[in-house]
This record gives sequence, structure tokens and C-alpha cells, in this order.
Amino acid sequence: MVARVIPVDPFDLVIFGGTGDLARRKILPGLFRRYRSGQMPDGSRIIGAARSDLDGAGYRKMIADAIAEFGGDEAGDQDCLSKFLTCLDYVPIDAKGTGGWSELAQLVRKDVVQAFYFSVAPSLFGDLAERLHTNGIASANSRIVVEKPFGRDLESARALNRTLATHFDESQIYRIDHYLGKETVQNLMAVRFGNVLFEPLWNNHYVDHIQITVAETVSVAGRGAYYDRSGAMRDMVQNHLMQLLCLIAMEPPSQFGADAVRDEKLKVIRALQPVDAHHIVRGQYDAGPDGKSYREDAENPRSFTESFIAMKCHIANWRWADVPFYLRTGKRLKARSSEITVVFKDLGHSIFEGDEARHRNILSIRLQPNEGMDLQVTIKEPGPGGMRLIDVPLDMTFADALGDKEVEVADAYERLIMDVIRGNQTLFMRGDEVEAAWRWTDPLIEGWEARNDVPKLYDAGSAGPEDAMMLMHRDNRRWRDIKA
Ligand code: NAP
Repeated sequence: MVARVIPVDPFDLVIFGGTGDLARRKILPGLFRRYRSGQMPDGSRIIGAARSDLDGAGYRKMIADAIAEFGGDEAGDQDCLSKFLTCLDYVPIDAKGTGGWSELAQLVRKDVVQAFYFSVAPSLFGDLAERLHTNGIASANSRIVVEKPFGRDLESARALNRTLATHFDESQIYRIDHYLGKETVQNLMAVRFGNVLFEPLWNNHYVDHIQITVAETVSVAGRGAYYDRSGAMRDMVQNHLMQLLCLIAMEPPSQFGADAVRDEKLKVIRALQPVDAHHIVRGQYDAGPDGKSYREDAENPRSFTESFIAMKCHIANWRWADVPFYLRTGKRLKARSSEITVVFKDLGHSIFEGDEARHRNILSIRLQPNEGMDLQVTIKEPGPGGMRLIDVPLDMTFADALGDKEVEVADAYERLIMDVIRGNQTLFMRGDEVEAAWRWTDPLIEGWEARNDVPKLYDAGSAGPEDAMMLMHRDNRRWRDIKA
């Protein structure tokens, strides 16, 4: 199957922080892949901007090296790479200074789509927004892309929204959450709203509970100073897990459009009930044979920050009354795996004599690795011996089903950047959504800070603290195994 390429207009994309880790590891290798697949029209340009004293040639060399390191197999296409590099330019600019802005003003064209990617610390967003205006660079048609974290609580998120709103309309602001750019996350909506099969069952009459797990094997080493001020709740739950929760729980939007989808997500966040402290488990990884402890990695021997969190939440509406949503995420866990699991209720009555087992349909949606889905169904065990039932997975790994050689599964970043160029905000968070998410998380964080809650230690390479297992066992349920 050949991927359908949706054409875009030529554009100028300015990447503030164009020399940083995110730009070199994700943004530019992603743009190179889009260029290679013919999605970057002729005449488009990418302009890096940061304080480093580079010229265009120096920047092109830096990006060629980055693509060689992070660009995967496609990086070997030297012809294409040379052509891509001719689209790149660079302007030295300090977001807080005055130098470089007039050069940038001369470079950025007014008659093409203009996008400004703020791939810098959020403390610089206001300076960039203001200078783009005072120097006459941005216009009413410009788009800005802002990175996470979007605030560290409701107050700071509001302040950030106000700052951006001083210079840009909400329709120009693209708050990126790269989880929403993942193929399977979008497939979640296709499965729910493109099939007649699931939606009638998608409610508290048929669903027993839902689990969302985002497990990482990496430690916080190298970014401990940032992470220690944040923790799993701010770094993962408030944004990525909440977005997944919204997509799984929202009502069908009237159409697949930016405001229709975001209105429905907002309703889910607003319907989230406060979480009882007994339904939250915070953990910190301990030292192991192949790694240091969280406190050593974070270089804070007295840190109470969580590198793991598990929680049980409820959505107070008709569809989801009494259906628990169990969320779990952490670092240094046994495998890198992100999965959403919908566990359906037991059969009310079995007609098969002697079959005592508890058969359940389970739909699991794997976000990574091996993006795909499987649906556990109950069938007759083959062979003689009467009607013995077994549960088997109907597995659909997308790469197998669609042919991994032929379908280009775009990385989340490149997909989202092309959506910015197309002016499609559906997969970006709206300001009110972000604020609503903080409004729900703030009291939980304040609660454990007030209690001086000490995170439970867990072994690196495990599934997290024992208390997280108990959170489900108490309800006579169990987490899905974390496996790669
Ligand atoms: P980074 O590696 O520290 O890069 C920061 C960039 O900002 C560099 O290009 C730096 O270049 C530039 N910069 C710093 N101060 C500046 C100033 N005053 N004026 C102009 N440019 C300035 O950070 P990063 O990891 O790329 O992260 C960038 C943003 O993305 C952050 O908001 C981060 O939270 C977010 N993010 C990153 C990742 C990731 O995987 N890295 C993932 C999610 C979100 P100079 O020093 O040359 O100025």
C-alpha cells in the first residue's frame, strides 16, 4: 500500500532552539523524512535560530551530522540529503536580546505559510512572541508551535496562555503533545468512530475497567535537574496520559475537526473526579546492578519526587459512571511499552456446562513498540473432549497487516509539524484543555506535598512498587503485564 501524500503549500519554518537536542534528534530528522517522501514542497525553507554563533554552512553541517546520527536508514540517501540541506539557513538570535531580529525579518517571507517553532525553555516563549511582533516578523497568518511543559501548575499555565494570547490568536497557537501524533493514537479514534462494532459497547454497561500504561526503561540521568522539579505527574500524567484518557473516554465528536474533538476532550477532563489519596501510588526507583537510584540520578539525596505513579480515577458522567480508569507510568520499568486496555465485563451467564473460567473480552491498543491492537476472544479449544473454552488474541500488528515495507509510519513529530503547515489544530491541545488538566492535577500534587508523602521504592527493571499492584488487587483486578 502506498501512503497517500496530502500536499501542502510552500512554507518558512523558523525553529527557535534549532541547535538543541529536540531539534537535532526529532524535528530536523523528521522534516528530512517528509522532504524525502515528497511532502515538503519546493521553495520551502527551514531557518534555525539560537544564540550559538554559526553561519548557514555551519548549521547545515550540524544538521547533516544530526540526521546521520538520528535519521535512521533514510539518512543514507546522500543525494536527497544534499538537496534537503539547501533548504536550511540559520540566524544567530538571543530570545532576550536585540541582535539578529532584523536579519530574521528579512529572511522570513510574507507570502508563504509562516510557522515559528518555540523549541526552547518555556521561560523564553514570552520574549519570542513579543519580539516576533515588535520586529514585524509575525502576522495574523503566522503559526507558533510550543513545546511541553506548558506550565507547572494552573497558575503558570494561565500566565503562559495570557502571554501568548497578547500576541497570537488561539487559532495560531499549536501546543504540541507528541503522543497525539502517534499513529495508533489516531487509530484509536478510527477504531471507535469508524466501526459499528465497538461504540455500542463503549460504556459502563459493558466495560469493566480501562487501563492506561506508559512504561519506560530509561532513567532520569542527564535530565535529573529538570525532572526532579517535575516528577511523573507533571511530566507524563497531566499531558500524555490525560490526552489518551480523553480520546478513549470522549463522546463522539460531530466531525473530525479541531474544535469538535477538543470540545469533547475538554468535557472529559472537566468530568474527572478528584482522586482519593488512597488511590494514588507514587514510587521512586532504587539502585540496581545496572544503574543508580533515582536520587543519585537526580543528584538530590533527599528528593521526594516520584519517578512512578499509578492511580485510579473516575469520570463522572452517564457513560462512565462506576468504571474505574487505572493510569500508570514510570521510569526504569521492566520494558518500554505503552498500552491502553479496555477490559469488558464478564459474561452474565455461561451456557457451557463445566466451564468455570472467567472469560472476558479484552481490547488492547499498543502505542509502542509494535503499534497495533489485539482483541481477546473466547473460542472452543480445538479437538475432542467437549466444549472446553479458551481465550485467544485476534492480533493485528499494523506493520504485519499493512506491510511495513510499503507504509511509511511517520514519526509523531513530523506528522504534527505537517499538520501545523496545513493549519490543522485537531491533534494539538487548546489553551482551555491544558488549564483544565492542571485544575485537576494541582490539588493532587498539593495534597501529597502537604502530607510530605514519601514515594515507595521499587526495583529498577520491575513493574513498579508493590502498592501499585495492590491498588488493583484490592478491586479484584490486575494490571496487564508490562512487556516489550
Ligand atoms: P536544549 O537541548 O537545552 O536546547 C535548547 C535550545 O534553546 C538550544 O538550541 C539553545 O541554543 C537555545 N537557546 C537557549 N537559550 C536561548 C536564548 N536565550 N535565545 C535563543 N535560543 C536559546 O533543549 P531541548 O531538549 O532541545 O528542549 C527544547 C524544548 O523542548 C524545551 O521546552 C523542552 O522542555 C521541550 N522538549 C524537549 C524534548 C526532548 O526530547 N529534548 C521532549 C519534549 C519537550 P543556544 O545555547 O545556542 O542558544
